[in-house]
Amino acid sequence: MIKLTENKFDTQRLHAGYDPKEHLNSPLPPIYQTAAFALGDTDEAEKVAEGSKEGFTYSRVANPTVRAFENRIAALDGGIDAVAVGSGMAAVSYALLSVAEGGGRIIAPTNLYGASIDAFQSIFPKFGIHVDFVDDINDFEAVKAAIKTDTKAVFVESVANPSTDIADIEQLATIAHQAGIPLIVDNTFPTPYLLRPFDFGADIDVYSSTKAINGHGNVVSGIIVDHGKFDWHNGRFPQFTENEFTLETEAGKPVSFYARFGAAAFISRVRIKYLRLFGAVMSPFDAYLALLGVETITERLDKEVRNAIAVARYLKSDPHVKKLYYAGIDLANPLVQKYFPKGIGSILSFELAGDEKQVDAVLNHVKVFTYLPNVGDVRSLIVNPVKITHREIPANLRKQHGLNTRVIRLSIGLEDADDLIADLKQAIGSAF
Ligand SMILES: *Cc1c(COP(=O)(O)O)cnc(C)c1O
Repeated sequence: MIKLTENKFDTQRLHAGYDPKEHLNSPLPPIYQTAAFALGDTDEAEKVAEGSKEGFTYSRVANPTVRAFENRIAALDGGIDAVAVGSGMAAVSYALLSVAEGGGRIIAPTNLYGASIDAFQSIFPKFGIHVDFVDDINDFEAVKAAIKTDTKAVFVESVANPSTDIADIEQLATIAHQAGIPLIVDNTFPTPYLLRPFDFGADIDVYSSTKAINGHGNVVSGIIVDHGKFDWHNGRFPQFTENEFTLETEAGKPVSFYARFGAAAFISRVRIKYLRLFGAVMSPFDAYLALLGVETITERLDKEVRNAIAVARYLKSDPHVKKLYYAGIDLANPLVQKYFPKGIGSILSFELAGDEKQVDAVLNHVKVFTYLPNVGDVRSLIVNPVKITHREIPANLRKQHGLNTRVIRLSIGLEDADDLIADLKQAIGSAF
């Protein structure tokens, strides 16, 4: 568990969760590029191996550079601890497999990231985990009606990819908690800088730190953060209360994750069972790069939000744009006012008032934007989600959310907004 400090976000993003004194006074977390760690004496080795003492043995379980990244994000997000993994999809899968282990149901909206929808539709059911989809996650009656005796969690994206629909986290947390289940939030788009879901009652956050947390498009990684407030002892989650053979008291008696870790039962179990046994680790070098990215998260997101609003305003006024998807431009929206006083993030989408050929022309004519499937980069990016990032989503679901082949998604970077607008103008102009 990390020490919570009183410092504000901008101080914590540079200092939280890492003590230079423990690392030869290196102000940046060093890259511990090693597979394993000398165990010291046999007494200490046993304590670390059984989990009664924090320490490092093998980098699949924990590594000091990765630990610095985990501690920092946990602090920024207001959580008690975090586990970093090799991708955002590993974070989504580990969190949900862990909460619904042994079978059960999860409630989720239909307007999620394509790979999440694909996982929920094609893989999770084969593990006995069924997802009850609702079209509008803010339709609270529909969410309540979907909760069954074996429902294990509500899963949402705080800002949906690519529609930017905003989930009403506080209401959803209340509904989930009334039913004795946690709210799990994919908070990738806003990052902890623009939104801390725990402040509104969420229980677990997952991130693709490939995106704006790192911000430089150089590493694929993910992270799971635990608020430490959910009661895993309420009878719905036997995986936390049954005795675990790898955990023993000093007298050799097996204990449960709940008995050993209490409030940190969930996140400890993700590390000891999922990371250790399924093995999607983040590498020390990748953690170092992600930490460097976090150091400038405030300045990056502030400017990206400003640029995104400027681009959104331009798109709104362009006659070749049929529809704009950017909740962040609607300052009268009560969900924007409540959750996003600093903006919703750098990603927006629009539907071109044209055909597929004209969409192709826009993509083929941009010069400042890069055509690639990523978001949250310092460089501005453009993609056609239905053909690339969201192609797994079945046609009927796409239709419900207006996600057709004319939709173009933008991720706005740190360039000059005038150049971004001019680039879109000339690319759109070339198509008509
Ligand atoms: C990109 C993304 C993911 C998956 O993350 P990877 O790091 O690519 O595995 C999950 N959720 C959202 C909202 C994303 O944008």
